[in-house]
Amino acid sequence: MELAAFQQLMASTYGENDRQRGVPATVAWLAEEVGELAQAVRKGTRAEQEHEFSDVMAWLASLANQIGIDLATVVERYAGGCPRCGTIPCHCPHGTDWT
Ligand SMILES: [Zn+2]
Repeated sequence: MELAAFQQLMASTYGENDRQRGVPATVAWLAEEVGELAQAVRKGTRAEQEHEFSDVMAWLASLANQIGIDLATVVERYAGGCPRCGTIPCHCPHGTDWT
């Protein structure tokens, strides 16, 4: 599934619930799901890892929908490779330990 289609699907599926929950609660849920993903990566099965990846993606899309961020647009920042050094693979002196 394309990223834009996924984000639209999340808006159709959860948009009303998202608006009622609000941004702060959605951020909290996203953070909790990231924690579950971290745990699944460390000691989960492949199926559990895939489950947590999908939950993180869903909550990320819900948050983006609530504040009007288009995920397909924002990932374009990486379309040319590393946004900092502009190469693929990245040749930054300290790898990827920056934001
Ligand atoms: Zn770089």
